[in-house]
Amino acid sequence: MKKPRGSKNLRDTRMSQSRSLPPIYHLVLRLPETRGLHVGCLGLQRFPHGYYVYTGSARRGLASRLRRHLSMEKTNHWHIDWLTKVARMEEIWVDFRPRRSECKSHGLILSVPGANRPFRGFGSSDCRCHSHLAHFDKMPIFHRKGKPTWRKALVRVLGSAKR
Ligand SMILES: [Zn+2]
Repeated sequence: MKKPRGSKNLRDTRMSQSRSLPPIYHLVLRLPETRGLHVGCLGLQRFPHGYYVYTGSARRGLASRLRRHLSMEKTNHWHIDWLTKVARMEEIWVDFRPRRSECKSHGLILSVPGANRPFRGFGSSDCRCHSHLAHFDKMPIFHRKGKPTWRKALVRVLGSAKR
């Protein structure tokens, strides 16, 4: 039986949607030297050296998705595949129970001091974001209420998705 629409129901719907959001991960990559890379349909792009944070989500099979990101033997399909083959994976931050979408979660990364937005379109073919990639000169540390977060989750996932 359908319930009538109302503000309470809208709130309930939002809550159930938030429960079903897929895990969101942030790949933290280090590129030792500035270089140009051909990134699929985006063409030749300049990647300054430093750190990159790429935001993605995995509705099915988080471990296998991360294993793919860590693998060097893959056919390039996503924009990030070009970068993961030349940059070193430093950390993976995982949000198992995200309260915000992948796009909003990437917005949070952009709020970390030192974040730069590289060229448009990287990892954001399916949404309206500028990109899902942030660049930092130094290793970014995500703090919330003064404490670094997401480190525990990182260890748990990498335990089953090692290179
Ligand atoms: Zn987006």
